[in-house]
Amino acid sequence: MYRVTFDEKDTIVRIDRELMNPETVSWFLDLVNLARALKDSRFADDREKMFARMLGFPTGVMLIRDPAFNKGTAFTEKEREILGLRGLLPPKVHTMEEQILRVLENVRRKPNDIEKYIFMISLQDRNKTLFYRIVTDYIEEMMPIIYTPTVGQACMEYGHIFRRPRGIFISAKDRGRMPGLLRNWPYKDIRIIVVTDGERILGLGDLGADGMGIPVGKLALYTACAGIHHALSLPITLDLGTENEDLLNDPLYIGLKQRRLRGAAYDDFVEEFFLAVEEVFPRALVQFEDFANINAFRLLEKYRERLCCFNDDIQGTAAATLAGIYSALRITGGRLQDQKFLFLGAGEAGLGAADLMVSALMASGLSANEAREHCWFVDSKGLVVKSRSELSGHKRRYAHDCEFIPDFPSAVEALQPTAIIGVSGKARMFTQPVLEAMARINERPLVFSLSNPTSNTECTAEEAYKWTEGRAIYTSGSPFEPVIYGGKKFVPAQGNNVYIFPGVGLGAIACRARQVTDEMFSVAAKTLASMISDADLEQGSLFPPLPRIREVSAAIATAVAEVAYARDLATVPRPDDLPAFIKSLMYDPKYKSYV
Ligand code: NAD
Repeated sequence: MYRVTFDEKDTIVRIDRELMNPETVSWFLDLVNLARALKDSRFADDREKMFARMLGFPTGVMLIRDPAFNKGTAFTEKEREILGLRGLLPPKVHTMEEQILRVLENVRRKPNDIEKYIFMISLQDRNKTLFYRIVTDYIEEMMPIIYTPTVGQACMEYGHIFRRPRGIFISAKDRGRMPGLLRNWPYKDIRIIVVTDGERILGLGDLGADGMGIPVGKLALYTACAGIHHALSLPITLDLGTENEDLLNDPLYIGLKQRRLRGAAYDDFVEEFFLAVEEVFPRALVQFEDFANINAFRLLEKYRERLCCFNDDIQGTAAATLAGIYSALRITGGRLQDQKFLFLGAGEAGLGAADLMVSALMASGLSANEAREHCWFVDSKGLVVKSRSELSGHKRRYAHDCEFIPDFPSAVEALQPTAIIGVSGKARMFTQPVLEAMARINERPLVFSLSNPTSNTECTAEEAYKWTEGRAIYTSGSPFEPVIYGGKKFVPAQGNNVYIFPGVGLGAIACRARQVTDEMFSVAAKTLASMISDADLEQGSLFPPLPRIREVSAAIATAVAEVAYARDLATVPRPDDLPAFIKSLMYDPKYKSYV
């Protein structure tokens, strides 16, 4: 946390701090001045230990139990001596590399993914530096454990695998005291909040307070994929009740056992929450996560100009999908304006993606109405058409003047789309007849099976290649192993918003943007698509390999911040070298020397 450097005359010449929180800094400097006054006192011989104690830096067993500072067996001899750790650790000092070996050995021998998840989350509770180092360096192996698909199962079992609380829970009982509750969080300079009300967790539905696994996991990805320091982030769950009968009857459920607040009571609660955030964490960007679509669109509309916020399910997914389309068109050589997109599912992900595609089509010269003609939807009731009177406002924009078709396979036959995009959360809807029809209609059909977790995917990678004779250009929300078909190896990259939100968040934080705009997501999609190599495309990957994610996030962050500066939405001066400045903000999890 700090390092004090003395000169030969015993004067403090330097103090390095890790966390740049103004309150902490002034408190820290007061203590330093006091310590200086005491320098010749009885503590003089033991000055570093004295500093450690005076500055509130944990020592002894408290240090080992503090996950932000704990290094476990990697504490050096000198640290063990000065910080009161002698005897509390086994004698061998290990390197971080050796600790990584131990963690990987342990995690890999766990019998299933949920056990791996529990193990990794426990590591996060013990030693954050080691946890983030491993997640960063082994992102391909770790992302499916700490995020989709395993996090879905973890949320479904949250109350049963619960060990330690993480993040802030604000429940319906907390009306009138939200600022105080936020102030209980140990870090004061929060720059990014991921908040859910747990009503639409992945494609799994209402998991109430058990949805907390999602903001926790997402913020771990912000740190691993974009280097946003974990002390700057805060996961929040708004517990407004649940409609999930299983949870209401489960003695181990961790949330309020009541039906969800709705209507004005819900809106007033959320408004109070945002006022509290503005008061306590005025510099925070807020990411809405996994709200049901009855609230998601409304809340985004209500708050997007008032606060720096975005909805990843709507806007992040949209940018990832558009980037995937740009990549696919590099393979087919087609133009965006020649495509017909048929979405399965007309919720946040689908409508968000269509809105961004419409913007991209309009940029190529089409009117809004012409652009919308390229996007068609089938929802749980059938084709979205004008004659359906029950459609919500958001869907209505895409209701075409056409005969109603009750099911997806018939819609594929009738509309002859170039691309099908699965965002229904319903498994196996891209059936053999659907994929065979797509292969008959198109030389290279675009098949995006984006629903999560894996159990909800519209089709697997193997099905997509097998039923289109290896001609599908495929991507999926959850990861699939490479597939060998017709002697060719296909490596389908995950079509996931993890390629987008960390970079957008970092860019918005870096320039302290007042708002996050749709234009920022458009440039994020273009930047992502520009980073896909011909070699990636050759093997069927529409997205870059995950190990390049930090490079991708840095590029997206730069592009997003450029938009903020161009549109006068940034609130700090533009650094001369923006890309270098953004890279300098990215936290690289390494042990610091404490003494
Ligand atoms: P949502 O609840 O807002 O929308 C789901 C939509 O699917 C609704 O329009 C619903 O009517 C429709 N639907 C349900 N059953 C259907 C059926 N049998 N046939 C046709 N349509 C049906 O959810 P969402 O936020 O849009 O997310 C949908 C899915 O997309 C989820 O599984 C989610 O995990 C996934 N998703 C993936 C990513 C990614 O990065 N890959 C990002 C966001 C969401």
